[in-house]
Amino acid sequence: MRLSELKFIEETSMHTVAYGVGEGTIETTEYECPCGKGRVVDEDDKTPGYRESAILIYCDNCREKYEPDYSIHGLKLKEQTGEPS
Ligand SMILES: [Zn+2]
Repeated sequence: MRLSELKFIEETSMHTVAYGVGEGTIETTEYECPCGKGRVVDEDDKTPGYRESAILIYCDNCREKYEPDYSIHGLKLKEQTGEPS
């Protein structure tokens, strides 16, 4: 499931200053999680030299059911295959 298929809630951006590399922003996009009881947050760190992306699942149901998939074709939630971790 692509994050873009989830219900969009809001987008915020935070200004950051990283010592030695300059200024950047962290863009946070919030979506409703697949079951609708919580949220999925895509945190995109655009600080120069970092460029990291993280998907955070704020829902107990969905955290058990899905895991982040950082595919080059876009951020996704991957259904876990039932292997106990
Ligand atoms: Zn959920």
